Amino acid sequence: MSIFNTSLVLKQGYMVKRSQNKKLYTLVNFKKRWFVLTRKYLIYYDDENESKRREKGRVELERVHTIEAANTFFTTEEVGIEGEYFPFLVGYHADDDYTLFLLALQPLDRIEWIVAIREACANNIILRYYFHPAPWNGRKWNCCKSSTKLAEGCRECGNWLPNSVTDDNSNKEELGSTQSGTIMPGGTPGTPSARQKDNKPVQRSKVVVALYNYKAIESGDLSLEKNQEYEVLEDSQEHWWKVKDSKGNVGFIPSNYVKEKELLGLQQYEWYVNDMSRQRSESLLKQEDKEGCFVVRNSSTKGLYTLSLYTKVPHPHVKHYHIKQNSRGEFFLSEKHCCVSIPELINYHKHNSGGLASRLKTSPCDRPAPATAGLSHDKWEIDHSELMLLEELGSGQFGVVRRGKWRGSIDVAVKMMKEGTMSEDDFIEEAKVMTKLQHTNLVQLYGVCSKNRPIFIVTEYMRHGSLLNHLRRHEQSLSSNQGLLLDMCIQICKGMAYLERLNYIHRDLAARNCLVGTENVVKVADFGLARYVLDDQYTSSGGSKFPIKWAPPEVLNYTRFSSKSDVWAYGVLMWEVFTCGKMPYGRLKNSEVVDRVQKGLILEKPKGCYKEVYDVMRKCWAHLPENRPSFRILKDTLLNVSQGILVD
Ligand code: AMP
Repeated sequence: MSIFNTSLVLKQGYMVKRSQNKKLYTLVNFKKRWFVLTRKYLIYYDDENESKRREKGRVELERVHTIEAANTFFTTEEVGIEGEYFPFLVGYHADDDYTLFLLALQPLDRIEWIVAIREACANNIILRYYFHPAPWNGRKWNCCKSSTKLAEGCRECGNWLPNSVTDDNSNKEELGSTQSGTIMPGGTPGTPSARQKDNKPVQRSKVVVALYNYKAIESGDLSLEKNQEYEVLEDSQEHWWKVKDSKGNVGFIPSNYVKEKELLGLQQYEWYVNDMSRQRSESLLKQEDKEGCFVVRNSSTKGLYTLSLYTKVPHPHVKHYHIKQNSRGEFFLSEKHCCVSIPELINYHKHNSGGLASRLKTSPCDRPAPATAGLSHDKWEIDHSELMLLEELGSGQFGVVRRGKWRGSIDVAVKMMKEGTMSEDDFIEEAKVMTKLQHTNLVQLYGVCSKNRPIFIVTEYMRHGSLLNHLRRHEQSLSSNQGLLLDMCIQICKGMAYLERLNYIHRDLAARNCLVGTENVVKVADFGLARYVLDDQYTSSGGSKFPIKWAPPEVLNYTRFSSKSDVWAYGVLMWEVFTCGKMPYGRLKNSEVVDRVQKGLILEKPKGCYKEVYDVMRKCWAHLPENRPSFRILKDTLLNVSQGILVD
């Protein structure tokens, strides 16, 4: 039972619904339905009257990728119901891509529905940039006449993404496929919607559950206890929310440490590791080295889940099992044992191996908590005296980097900026913005110590150091594990897709500027820093320290940086990964490299690298920036490649 009262109905009312033509042989029809929008579902019923109404279907809001006004107009004859209609569409991905065409009965009503559904979907990770404004007729799209059903939409979506900047993949797992629409992988369906007598939506309060422990250090912050519930009092800032615990204590907490109770799904379980890849789950389980140790992760096929299980019999290895669903929507690993939810299935196999290599026993514990955006709410200036400096981690362009502890408890890396190497005032201003960038695959900037000289840049500590050194150090084991190499590239691509979405250009993307943490997590570091470097040799394309080998023609010719110049550099970075840290273009001099690039000569395929992977690199090296794919497209391509060449 929740300790707080939550009421679910956000909006409700009549609309006409066009059938979704899921099967080609069913005729398209239109029906008047009573729609109820909750925070989790858009549900439609055959009758307004709550006592009589029967649910006819529902769309899970986490699966929605598009909410747009439709430009298609259905005639009264087509619809068969008298009146004027104001159409809009809700695109979502369940076991396939579907578009729900809805006809509001008043123009204002259409706007209100669109706004209400968009608000409820504001944090969805799968929001699309393009859509088709008219239906697919079984052979082609009625709008652009494209005959490819999966063709990207022909119309750009409205610019309604939330003002806030959200992490585009972390901590927001997709819930599983609900073929029948009634069984959730995490358990029972949402409670039927509550409604006040006058049909007005009820004021709601947001309740979140802590996914990790959090120790409040600054005054004004509040400690979190894993699995406990908190009421959100203020969520206007993206990364730090004001919450109240069950004892009435109020304070700020990092928003990425909690998940809305209603969207919790499988995240409440120790064994669920979200979108950890096959390769990373194998490393994690091998490291634990315990018979029957297991995790459940999102499969590379969206909406499905995979169980990864470690066994020592006949030799230590990890087995991967797809969790399947039968026609009743029940989950199973072996058809003889079906359960209504994944947790029940796991519980069953904890007691019976039921055909698995071993009974499920334990799952890895003490998994690392994510970095917070800044070390406390609204904090980016860090007090020198609160930092304990420890061993040197390395040194780079700006000076020495040392490991440190903030207030004796939080691991950090401290970059001690050599004086005169950067335009400090401009950077300090920028740092305020940069602390707000947060993504699983970006090294978190915690803040700066700018009151003393040299200034310190304080970031998340990454245990295994630079990716370049990591690749070189582990060449032997990594070169035979193309899956792990591809996984590293996908992680970097996800971080870059996040920056791209914010129009944030890295300018110096390369393996030396990525770092490796625990559980083989790879993150992009030093984004945007190049703008503040004062050294001409680094900033001008003719300079000796300029990263020529990562630069596309338009940067070499006109110093024109863009997300597409980052894409070129990303191709070179992929090449570095698949050669385990070789120097691109070997010993060629910078001038020779420029010559080659201008002539359109590209790096050769790394030894042992899949052709499909090399094809992706080649796309990044298109001569004209507009011919290079975006990181968003690259990410999808790489995920497809990984699915095609590696078993999930
Ligand atoms: P940089 O100045 O960023 O090139 O860093 C120089 C070296 O310090 C890198 O090659 C890493 O080995 C190390 N280093 C930098 N930042 C971190 C970090 N956040 N965590 C761990 N090691 C780091």
